[in-house]
Amino acid sequence: MIKVQEYRPQSFTDFTKEENVKAYQEALTKVRKELVGKHYPLIIDGKEVDTAEKLTSINPCDTAEVVGTTAKATIQDAENALQGAWKAFESWKKWDMDARARILLKAAAILKRRRLEACALMSIEVGKNYAEADVEVAEAIDFLEYYARSAMKYAGFGSSETTWFEGEENGLMSIPLGVGVSISPWNFPCAIFIGMAAAPIVAGNCVIVKPAEDAGLIAGFMVDIMREAGLPAGVLQFLPGVGKEVGEYLVNHAKTRFITFTGSRAVGLHINEVAAKVQPGQKWIKRVVMELGGKDGLIVDETADLDNAITAAVQGAFGFNGQKCSAMSRLIVVDSVYDEVVNGFVERAKALKMGTGEENANVTAVVNEMSFNKIKSYLELAPQEGKVLLGGEAPGEANGKQGYYIQPTIVGDVQRDSRLAQEEIFGPVVAVLRAKDWQDALDIANSTEYGLTGGVCSNSRERLEQARAEFEVGNLYFNRKITGAIVGVQPFGGYNMSGTDSKAGGPDYLANFMQLKTVTERW
Ligand code: NAD
Repeated sequence: MIKVQEYRPQSFTDFTKEENVKAYQEALTKVRKELVGKHYPLIIDGKEVDTAEKLTSINPCDTAEVVGTTAKATIQDAENALQGAWKAFESWKKWDMDARARILLKAAAILKRRRLEACALMSIEVGKNYAEADVEVAEAIDFLEYYARSAMKYAGFGSSETTWFEGEENGLMSIPLGVGVSISPWNFPCAIFIGMAAAPIVAGNCVIVKPAEDAGLIAGFMVDIMREAGLPAGVLQFLPGVGKEVGEYLVNHAKTRFITFTGSRAVGLHINEVAAKVQPGQKWIKRVVMELGGKDGLIVDETADLDNAITAAVQGAFGFNGQKCSAMSRLIVVDSVYDEVVNGFVERAKALKMGTGEENANVTAVVNEMSFNKIKSYLELAPQEGKVLLGGEAPGEANGKQGYYIQPTIVGDVQRDSRLAQEEIFGPVVAVLRAKDWQDALDIANSTEYGLTGGVCSNSRERLEQARAEFEVGNLYFNRKITGAIVGVQPFGGYNMSGTDSKAGGPDYLANFMQLKTVTERW
């Protein structure tokens, strides 16, 4: 059994303190010297493998800048990674649970030491401001620390309760599934990337990690940390590449035992369908763990502390430019306080400054050209579906830098069945909906196919209790912002079209990557 103190989440850095800002800026300088311009090869069976073609990472806040490159895996590389991982599995599955857990704890310790570097790299690679990068790296450390401890409860024979039966010994044991593929998004390229790898790994599986195309450098940085922590060759195969090519190949493969995916609804459903088809030679039903998109709503009623509700709305909507699956993209306000809340929301959002992640702007650029064009198409739709109360433009530049800049945009009086109210935009665009009364507001909140996060700002106990039972989301928040789930504190994940509700950072998350065997011995 590992001897460590009880899990405690990391605290966040206070950037109102000058010394913390200074330390961050020094880290940016160090990262510019040491990591920007770097190339990360594939890692297969512990060896660096390079490819003829490369993936290029661009700074979204200054698109003239190449942040670095990674190798671009071929189908043959994916095949090699899969075969090698099965070989590594033969020994990794026999490791003691606590020995595996120690590697995660060591990785957490290294990441704590390199916390500022990881933050600074994300400011440059995906445009996170200081606080957004800081909470993400804190979350990455938390995932490692939390899953290391969670693993203990699955160790050995008899780890789960069974009922005693005369004349026999009965018990359950948790065993790993085998080799899986972990396909992650660019919006939490450090925390989600490492959480989705570390959980199956500590449970005894081997994993091929396929990071998002836009954020290969921070993924390479995290893989280096896992190697430094002592992860044996082949347990984590690093396979940057194109999702539709190597990702799809591995999802299809008869030898893939499980797929853990975080990303868009469209890609997730496609993977789910592909994975369901049994391939020649396949001898299991692939397990699929899915964390998909959202159309997350915050309800404000007439009993709420309106100032607090406005703060919750601004934080939830515009943190990392709305590029969070949990972001508040619908503000649902009861008619009698609609004007006051919406005016306050617009006023507060007007004060947000646009600029680069490195400048620590409130709103930075969205991740890539595809995203920029997609969001722009919703800005064009906005005047037809409501009243544009703030923003509405995509200037494509800020403070003299060309980048994928979109103004924080608020659209009022949007109808509940319109596209702005139903489709995930994944940018700084909020649809405000007017509800007749509380019940109407709850009906609007539940009127999408998603079910990820949601919130209620109200001082009515009765309504909060009704929402607790009836608001259809995986993560429900009262009287605060609807983003920022903390590992172990608010296990995270949605249902309906938002995913399989696997609850990352929750007490049973590791069970997604294990199977149970019941063994009975008659005495
Ligand atoms: P995406 O679906 O475009 O890509 C996600 C990953 O899938 C990438 O690594 C990509 O290369 C890969 N991929 C693409 N096509 C593939 C295919 N055919 N087969 C296998 N892999 C393939 O998503 P994104 O733009 O990177 O991320 C944003 C989305 O992720 C949003 O919808 C957001 O809501 C969602 N998200 C959800 C959660 C959650 O916990 N529910 C968390 C973060 C992000």
